[in-house]
Amino acid sequence: IGGDQVQQHLYKILVIGDYAVGKTSIIKRYCTGMFSPNYKLTIGVDFAVKEVQWDKNTTVSLQLWDIAGHERFGTMTRVYYKYAIAAIIVFDLGRPTTFEAVTKWRDDINSKVVLGNQQPIPVLLLANKCDMKDSSIDKAMLDNFVKEHNFIGWFPTSAQSNINIDEAMMFLTGKVLEVA
Ligand code: GDP
Ligand code: MG
Repeated sequence: IGGDQVQQHLYKILVIGDYAVGKTSIIKRYCTGMFSPNYKLTIGVDFAVKEVQWDKNTTVSLQLWDIAGHERFGTMTRVYYKYAIAAIIVFDLGRPTTFEAVTKWRDDINSKVVLGNQQPIPVLLLANKCDMKDSSIDKAMLDNFVKEHNFIGWFPTSAQSNINIDEAMMFLTGKVLEVA
């Protein structure tokens, strides 16, 4: 055949966090470019795929898994976590309890999935709904928090106003390619 070898990879990425923080909206925004304020609650595991042209020879398919309605259990089954290479934990800047739940979700991930070399998977933190007028962000606190809890980083995001969604996913993709 000859020519450049084109690499195509499929990566499973979990999107986790409390109910109504914006997980489905973020996935939808990233994968379809759209936002709909009225959503249907779906029960079960669902995913969407986004193709990213990373460089001339590398196209990656990011398979974003939505926990769709299972948030209330506070943990997910191992089947959901299986073969995941990275995760995103989302919280809602307007609801402090959703931030308090972040470490619980983090522990759930750590206890259920590791990379092939037994290292923890990279986890990104998203502070969603930063478009809201009354949302205030304590940057120093979040910088410390991600360091302390071993996240790869954090972004303020808005699925509604399309703020930092692509940037956050690009950052995560870079980290995925480092550990893949
Ligand atoms: P999920 O339960 O985590 O999947 O959350 P959804 O994506 O279903 O969103 C929950 C609610 O928050 C919906 O009413 C969304 O329209 C709203 N929402 C999601 N993202 C944003 C955002 O960035 N800004 C604002 N203001 N609302 C959002
Ligand atoms: Mg949802």
